[in-house]
Amino acid sequence: MNPKKITVIGGGIVGLATAFRLGQTFPDAEVIVLEKEKSVGQHQSGNNSGVLHAGIYYKPGSTKARLAVRGIRQMIEFCRENSIDHEICGKLVVATEEEELPRLNDLFDRGRKNGLSGLEMLRIEQMREIEPHVAGIAAIRVPEEGIVDYRGVCAALAKQIRGRVLTNAKVTHLQKTTDGWVATTTAGDFESDVLINCAGLQCDRVSKLAGLKPELRIVPFRGEYYKIKPERQHLVRNLIYPVPDPKFPFLGVHFTRLIHGGIEAGPNAVLAFAREGYRKRDISVRDLFDALTYPGLWAFLKKYPKLCFNEMRRSFSKNLFCASLQRLVPEIRTTDLEPGGAGVRAQALYPTGEMVQDFHIQRLGNSIHVLNAPSPGATASLAIGEEIVKQLNVN
Ligand SMILES: Cc1cc2nc3c(=O)[nH]c(=O)nc-3n(C[C@H](O)[C@H](O)[C@H](O)COP(=O)(O)OP(=O)(O)OC[C@H]3O[C@@H](n4cnc5c(N)ncnc54)[C@H](O)[C@@H]3O)c2cc1C
Repeated sequence: MNPKKITVIGGGIVGLATAFRLGQTFPDAEVIVLEKEKSVGQHQSGNNSGVLHAGIYYKPGSTKARLAVRGIRQMIEFCRENSIDHEICGKLVVATEEEELPRLNDLFDRGRKNGLSGLEMLRIEQMREIEPHVAGIAAIRVPEEGIVDYRGVCAALAKQIRGRVLTNAKVTHLQKTTDGWVATTTAGDFESDVLINCAGLQCDRVSKLAGLKPELRIVPFRGEYYKIKPERQHLVRNLIYPVPDPKFPFLGVHFTRLIHGGIEAGPNAVLAFAREGYRKRDISVRDLFDALTYPGLWAFLKKYPKLCFNEMRRSFSKNLFCASLQRLVPEIRTTDLEPGGAGVRAQALYPTGEMVQDFHIQRLGNSIHVLNAPSPGATASLAIGEEIVKQLNVN
């Protein structure tokens, strides 16, 4: 394929990285990114944990594993070349109970199979040398992981795209023409040969505008954070994570050092009543209606009632949130926690109620739709962009 005009919908990190890769592969093409907000990276890409994930969690052979491992290397190189703040500080994944040990061992195997280097299984004394206040019975050290300024990455990508990034341009209609597309936006109409949908929390809706009938639906999961008070930040040096439940793509509340200073704790994973609602009280009638009329949500609630109930309770109870954190760092007190921000994950759900674990990218003629790109989507964004270019080149 040799497109002359390409439209990318969504100026999050995935849309921007894809536009960047498209410009490298098709230097003569005109690439335009259409973003509905007044600047790029306003949703998931600007409201996440800021962690560079190396790929330890993901099923060997999955697209997530492949693109995370490739993506972290590309992201670090991009940050180095563009002087974007980042640091490879390493992470501990900590088992706090005997029953977590088999899962910790599985993670270690996964990490090795996925090609991570330098993984180490640590005993208590060894993990305390790295994180003196941590509790647990064993831990994996993942030395390749780190922290980064993803807003900075978005801004640098936007500058380097060979083409235009148009903000305040919400795509409202998509029309198929004989040899391309017309995207109608709040800033005018745009013609292109190829359309790439990277609309994050709205990606399923945008795919429907293009005539796709996706079997999966985006269900928003808000992730809320606390900040650790400055005088107690010495309790955490870098990144301390629990052993995740393999049924869910969420990693469990953890501690993260931020690249511009400070320590965050979280995020939890609560069903949100608005796709772009960052506060508990945010409700969108349309989003709520769409969620409640989707059989997949009811199947999910039926399958995991305890998880949903407990997440909701923990969202309203600082004590419960703190109790989860104390499993990793027992000295943490509720008085150490100050309200932090929140992000909303675009998590695709199958009608059966299962969460879509892997990245999901679907092609329909001369359009490509990114229908599930949750964590580590930011880390992997440059590799996702490459993958999309590859799919475009397959006729
Ligand atoms: C709480 C949280 C923590 C996370 N932590 C990490 C982490 O530490 N490391 C990591 O690698 N990943 C992390 N992730 C995942 C990561 O943030 C996402 O995978 C990534 O940001 C997805 O990027 P995106 O471009 O697909 O989505 P987004 O950033 O949401 O961008 C989509 C864009 O599309 C625009 N858009 C939507 N509809 C339209 C329309 N109709 N017209 C025009 N524009 C439209 C939106 O305004 C938005 O800017 C986290 C996510 C969350 C929510």
